[in-house]
Amino acid sequence: MSQSVNDAIIIGGSYAGLSAALQLGRARRRVLIIDEGVRRNRFAAHSHGFLTQDGVDPAVIAQRARDQVLAYPTVRLLSARAERVQRLKVRDEDGAAFDVIADGARFAARRLLLATGVTDTLPAIPGLAERWGRSVFHCPYCHGYELDRGPIAVIAGSALSMHHALMLPDWGPTTLLLNTAFEPDADQLSALSARGTNVERSPVVGITGHADITLADGRTLPFAGIFALAEVTQASPFADQLGLAMDDSPIGAMIRTSATKETSIPGVFACGDAARISGSVALAVGDGNMAGAALHRSLMFESV
Ligand SMILES: Cc1cc2nc3c(=O)[nH]c(=O)nc-3n(C[C@H](O)[C@H](O)[C@H](O)COP(=O)(O)OP(=O)(O)OC[C@H]3O[C@@H](n4cnc5c(N)ncnc54)[C@H](O)[C@@H]3O)c2cc1C
Repeated sequence: MSQSVNDAIIIGGSYAGLSAALQLGRARRRVLIIDEGVRRNRFAAHSHGFLTQDGVDPAVIAQRARDQVLAYPTVRLLSARAERVQRLKVRDEDGAAFDVIADGARFAARRLLLATGVTDTLPAIPGLAERWGRSVFHCPYCHGYELDRGPIAVIAGSALSMHHALMLPDWGPTTLLLNTAFEPDADQLSALSARGTNVERSPVVGITGHADITLADGRTLPFAGIFALAEVTQASPFADQLGLAMDDSPIGAMIRTSATKETSIPGVFACGDAARISGSVALAVGDGNMAGAALHRSLMFESV
């Protein structure tokens, strides 16, 4: 692979990164995508809620996207993990402002786009991780409909689980399993009751079968699906390496961006789940579209 300067290096070649690359490839800009292929939704067999692709295997959506984007001759893909990014103190004569180390080589670019996504740390409940994306979920809009109005469990991780417990009755009769994570106050109990959500206090011992929850008091309750909160962290350390400003959220820290997806450092853009509190395939594609166009305009009209 040539070492000469790219207009942009995009780290993360999933929905957000590929969507940005499409804009840049269509502007005939020289783009290098570096991607190690570990999408957040790799556990799910079907992706829902993205117009024209509803119910399609998320791997198929990603592969189609990759095929379409790589048809543009100025876009290249390196299948590898990027290890390190650096903002150059002195621009070289080609205008390189950043370099990225991946696959034992150094790649230079005028602009950098982080589309690296996030990592979910799941509650340490026996049987939960194996069912993530299959019968245990975090997003009602993505997977609630397919539960076919069957009984739904919400395993509390903190008081934040009130949100799930109050939403999910729209998809099926809901039980909030407090699992000693918090105790609802009187207002919260009356809100749960108004939505018809049952409250279960016996701690969760584990999950078996499709979505059967065994409780400490010996009962096993069968559900059509289970919702749980994951803790979200940046999938890669580049925000720290560059010193980007972050926004805290109740579930984790996200890269702060402007409306056009530029970060606190000029010339560095971020899109997709890495730079928004709650994401989806459609939102990642939309963010990437915006980031790609804004990055392109920055190449034409701004110096960094
Ligand atoms: C179980 C589950 C089910 C879901 N179901 C749905 C659904 O039905 N519908 C929906 O709309 N959304 C769903 N989502 C959410 C969806 O997966 C995300 O919103 C979406 O994947 C975000 O896209 P992204 O491009 O920002 O990040 P990702 O898809 O997570 O991609 C990030 C990419 O960056 C790469 N990367 C990261 N660091 C590096 C590095 N250092 N070097 C090289 N590459 C790197 C990764 O390997 C990966 O390919 C689901 C999420 C989960 C967890």
